[in-house]
Amino acid sequence: MDMLNRLSQQLQTLEEQDLIRTRRTVDTPCGPRVSVDGRELLAFCTNDYLGLANHRKIKLALQEGAAMYGVGSGASHLISGHGRAHSMLEERLVEFVGAHLVSPRALTFCTGYMANLAIVTGLTAGDRDADIFSESLNHASLIDGARLSRANVQVYPHADLEALAQMLAASKSATKLVVTDSVFSMDGDLAPLPQLLALCEQHGAWLVVDDAHGFGTLGDNGHGALEHFNLRSPNLVYMGTLGKAAGVSGAFVAAHETVIETLIQKARPYIFTTATPPALAHALLTSLELLEGDEGRARRAQLQALVAQLDDGLRLKRWQRLPSMTAIQPILIGDNAETMRAGAALYEQGLWVGTIRPPTVAPGTSRLRVTLSAGHSSMEVAKLIAAINALERT
Ligand SMILES: *Cc1c(COP(=O)(O)O)cnc(C)c1O
Repeated sequence: MDMLNRLSQQLQTLEEQDLIRTRRTVDTPCGPRVSVDGRELLAFCTNDYLGLANHRKIKLALQEGAAMYGVGSGASHLISGHGRAHSMLEERLVEFVGAHLVSPRALTFCTGYMANLAIVTGLTAGDRDADIFSESLNHASLIDGARLSRANVQVYPHADLEALAQMLAASKSATKLVVTDSVFSMDGDLAPLPQLLALCEQHGAWLVVDDAHGFGTLGDNGHGALEHFNLRSPNLVYMGTLGKAAGVSGAFVAAHETVIETLIQKARPYIFTTATPPALAHALLTSLELLEGDEGRARRAQLQALVAQLDDGLRLKRWQRLPSMTAIQPILIGDNAETMRAGAALYEQGLWVGTIRPPTVAPGTSRLRVTLSAGHSSMEVAKLIAAINALERT
């Protein structure tokens, strides 16, 4: 069949460019140590930054939630799927980040991907003149949201405040959205949020902050990037995910109550999907408790110590460790094939590190993406450091 042949040829091309992606089936719970095909591996590739994904208390809370609320929510939020647990979670999330917003309210989503689609399309709904200013290293979900919105999209170069200022000054639109990751997912660096917010306030623009990698890990209380930078503004639209540091699943948006009401009324990724199982929302209440408390603080301190250890220990000449103070520690290699070989060699030694290639990153910037977790020990990180240092020299 012609159509199948076409697909096969396209797959063949990916293969030839070393761009085929494969999945490995994990037999154990997510954690720093996993088992794949009967092999024990040290995983340096998950987003479980605080090691909560398999936490005893959260597992118990999930069981308790299932006993209290059953399994499925049975409907979308606007029909009958909005449960007491979802409502309690929203209130708790306002306590988490509300200090940085004005008249705050929160809204939960099934995934961060959907939350981003919802924000970008919802805030520009029916407004073809809206201008979206999108940071060049943004996550795919923000890019897709911008595409779906049918608004005007301009991409500004990474962290280029001057370029953004010019674009904002030239905009005649009444609806302006600046959208950015707070922690860039493939680079690990932080967006200059205070400066971005100042520009947004000056030009009457929303600042949409995707804090997928900051929520839980940044700030003394784990409240995320807004706490880290100590920001507060009515222009902020905050998105945090709950499947990374929080260890569960889902996402939320927190913003001025009028923004949230707009999303409820207009955002199709909120309206036209089944609400998550309420038991997940119930489990998340425990996760948030841990994040904010002494245990969260200790886990963030452990994570920071491991980041410092990696920074200190890597001795790279050809490859380049990108500057990052977060759990995301990329090592730039460049070539796709060399990146894959490095990833395979580490895997042979029982070290599972993510290999990132285009289109996730720009051509010629393939990299190893090491992610650290508070669940790792410093001995485990030392093992990784030694392996990467030795590998670069071969
Ligand atoms: C993971 C991620 C998302 C998507 O969140 P999910 O809950 O996994 O759908 C959005 N933005 C960024 C920057 C991410 O890293």
